[in-house]
Amino acid sequence: MDYVSTRGLAPGFGFDDVLLAGLAGDGGLYLPRDWPSFSPAEIRSWRGLSYPELAARVMRPFVAGSVIEADLPRLCAESYAGFAHPAVAPLRQIDSDRWVMELFHGPTLAFKDYALQLVGRLFDAVLARRGARVTIVGATSGDTGSAAIESCRDRAAVDILILHPKGRVSEVQRRQMTTILSGNVRNLAVEGTFDDCQDLVKALFADEAFRDEVHLSAVNSINWARVMAQIVYYFWAGLALGAPDRPVGFSVPTGNFGNVFAGYAARLMGLPIERLVVASNSNDILTRFFESGVMQTTRVVPTLSPSMDIQVSSNFERLMALTVPGGGPAVAELMQNFRRDGTMSLPDSAWQAMRAVFSADRIDDAATLETMRQIKDQTGETLDPHSAIGVAAALRAEGVAGLPLVALATAHPAKFPDAVERATGLRPGLPPHLADLFERPERSEAIGNDAEALKTIVRAFAGRNRP
Ligand SMILES: *Cc1c(COP(=O)(O)O)cnc(C)c1O
Repeated sequence: MDYVSTRGLAPGFGFDDVLLAGLAGDGGLYLPRDWPSFSPAEIRSWRGLSYPELAARVMRPFVAGSVIEADLPRLCAESYAGFAHPAVAPLRQIDSDRWVMELFHGPTLAFKDYALQLVGRLFDAVLARRGARVTIVGATSGDTGSAAIESCRDRAAVDILILHPKGRVSEVQRRQMTTILSGNVRNLAVEGTFDDCQDLVKALFADEAFRDEVHLSAVNSINWARVMAQIVYYFWAGLALGAPDRPVGFSVPTGNFGNVFAGYAARLMGLPIERLVVASNSNDILTRFFESGVMQTTRVVPTLSPSMDIQVSSNFERLMALTVPGGGPAVAELMQNFRRDGTMSLPDSAWQAMRAVFSADRIDDAATLETMRQIKDQTGETLDPHSAIGVAAALRAEGVAGLPLVALATAHPAKFPDAVERATGLRPGLPPHLADLFERPERSEAIGNDAEALKTIVRAFAGRNRP
């Protein structure tokens, strides 16, 4: 399988290089040159497979030609073996024709585990074949850091350093990172904000000599392999509800657009998805775009669903590359304008093509809490605030009569106990594998907001395993 950049200027790569590179050399994101597509008969033949078996079938075309191609079934089996529910991604019915897919049974209780558990293993497997190592550095405001650390802990070919803003992540989120005491994991608490953390990481990646010296790498949400692994659960839910013989729809709590784009990819591959609902909180840049055709940034406001408090959805560029006439050069120009002006207007044909599949909605904090309370009362299901936004948008979606609609539950309620207690009066407990989280010893190091000092720390950490 050959991959190309959304901006069309970087050279094409195979899967292994796309995995390790993350961002393309021209600033774009990687996409398959040709999309694999499955026939209804083939999709039908997957009924009854376990989640890891299905994962290997769905992803096989994407890793064709990779050094790990033959290992994919084993890597999938290992990735999902530690999940807390035997179905891995269980579906629960909450209304006639409305379901919730629980994507929070992974080790760190957010849907990011479904991709990152595999991506950590893919990194290790590809690097082992190459006799190489990487140093992963990332910044987190919460969920991504713990999922990345959990996926890379104890992997032989990977060192990982995660920066979080000191005192500005929730206690559960901090402890999920700092209680991992593996030798290849380092937690750095930065005196500053999340934006300061991100700027520090950017400064490291901008220093080409340093990047090469420590073999710097990233597992952020623009990495193609994360999107690829997320395609699987769309097929999983579709098959459970009668696909390919019955169309389905999904409602997706959206921030960076990676998750909902994976749904669009599943549709390109032959899954009959008739509707994708983009569910936003009050940071509604995407909702405003789907209403108007104009993407325009505004200030970010904090909400009860912090993982969706975003200004720019980086994975949206992938959808642009598939719909904007003129391909890579046209996408590159639009993105350049957007970066300069904070606004861009898409060609009408692209906007119309998107609106044939996507609709969008915004759910504010009051409606989020109301949905959490209502669903708890009516069905017994406890939702976290992010998941409630997807459910609220699914319940009031228009033009989908008779279509089974699946809302993705992206975080476990115990990750956001204050909001859950406010909505339902009940404080959710942590699941058994994290029950003693508050007693576990923590390890992290406070650092200043200083890129040169950070380079020294990274250099020493990455060097300790090398001769
Ligand atoms: C990351 C995250 C999201 C947003 O997903 P995107 O792929 O960035 O759109 C939604 N909910 C939770 C709980 C998350 O951690």
